[in-house]
Amino acid sequence: MAPFSPRPLLALALVVALAGCSAGSPRGDGSSTASPAATLPAPGPVVLTSSRPADVVPAPIHLSPADAHVETSRGAPRYALQWPTLAQAPALTKALASRAGAWRDEFLTGAGGKRPAAPELHVRWEPVVHAGSLHGVRLVSRPSTSGAATRETTVYGDGDASWSSEDLVAEKSRQSLLKAVSQAVAHESHENGAESLTPSRALSDVSFTSTGDMVVNLSHGLTGPAPRSGLSARISDPQRYLSARGRQVRAAMTRPVDAAPTTPVPRPAHTTDCTRAKCIALTFDDGPGPFTSAILDALEKAKARASFFMIGSAITTDPGIVRRMAAAGMGVGNHTWSHPQVTALTPDQVTGEITRQSSAVAAATGHEPFAVRPPYGAFTRSTPHAGLPFVLWDVDTEDWKNLDPTRTTQRALSGAHPGAIVLMHDIHPSTAKALPGIIAALQKQGYTLVTVDELLPGMDPSGSYYSAG
Ligand SMILES: [Zn+2]
Repeated sequence: MAPFSPRPLLALALVVALAGCSAGSPRGDGSSTASPAATLPAPGPVVLTSSRPADVVPAPIHLSPADAHVETSRGAPRYALQWPTLAQAPALTKALASRAGAWRDEFLTGAGGKRPAAPELHVRWEPVVHAGSLHGVRLVSRPSTSGAATRETTVYGDGDASWSSEDLVAEKSRQSLLKAVSQAVAHESHENGAESLTPSRALSDVSFTSTGDMVVNLSHGLTGPAPRSGLSARISDPQRYLSARGRQVRAAMTRPVDAAPTTPVPRPAHTTDCTRAKCIALTFDDGPGPFTSAILDALEKAKARASFFMIGSAITTDPGIVRRMAAAGMGVGNHTWSHPQVTALTPDQVTGEITRQSSAVAAATGHEPFAVRPPYGAFTRSTPHAGLPFVLWDVDTEDWKNLDPTRTTQRALSGAHPGAIVLMHDIHPSTAKALPGIIAALQKQGYTLVTVDELLPGMDPSGSYYSAG
């Protein structure tokens, strides 16, 4: 490490000054008397308490269920690993398999030969960038025990090359970046020295906003007295830190966010009379995701309808698929903005979570969602409804847990009854694989597959509904 010179000291002083400002801090304007404008350091990192700023908007990836890899344990200890097979980025696919496999092995053997720290391990993925053959994918490892550490890493690839988040930062700039981030964290937490960055992990999840700011997810890069989940550093004008790969990824992620369409999507009116027809309502939570289009294909092919309870932040990634749902007459529902357990929030926070998602749906389709499904089905009598009924379920396929088309199908069909609301998730390839068979079997039994709206017309906005029979 180079010895201190006056310039790094000035940089650190600026980091402290700017860390308390908003992310939109003005650039140095040359008015400083201490240094000529040409040598003024760029603004330092700003520490955020959300690991995903609103303007980190990846391009959607649409996959067929066959393009997904799922690996589940049979018996205890249970684990479920998922990652995509990306035809244009084979090296990335391989790197993802190796990361997920390493987390599985670590989980199974436990650190230092101890028992697994958590009874179950779930590794899922989400797209970070997709531009031509360049892909970035974030792997998220989430043990089922609350309090156990979630781990996130983003890996990039293009054709036969793949590289880590750390590779986005030029080797010679890593120490200075970490020092600046570390200083900003210390300032933010008002506990100088209480926490320190662990370099190997601090750069494991690096991405860019649509305006080109660098975002370093610090959830697991910090050691300190308190859990620091959801903490990130945002660096304006990060060019001076970037490697050639970093500049390539930044260019791919810097793009205008799609403007909201102004014309409302025409919605076909379906008026199945479920007092006469044998109706059932399939519902899909947590999307939209890479398999939502395959699920819509299966529904449309069978002239069946279903309802989708979507996460607002995921809608901004793929507003086009939400328009497609609305145009196909599917139920478009609200699953909050960021999927929190709403019983842990204040009434104002709950209302904000619901209305922010509704705005995203309205921006995409021109229509408000028809109902809310509280995440985890958790709510109390005092949970605000924000003007929308709560729709729960009475048949749980446990598709998120079994990740197995056969078991998902068995649970859906054994639970089916006229008036049932069936819970599934459109983010799992196993669910997309199971769906055509489930639809065919239900239709063969005489069911009409309808939206929750058709099943329960005239729901009370302050009511909570589990089924219609
Ligand atoms: Zn959910």
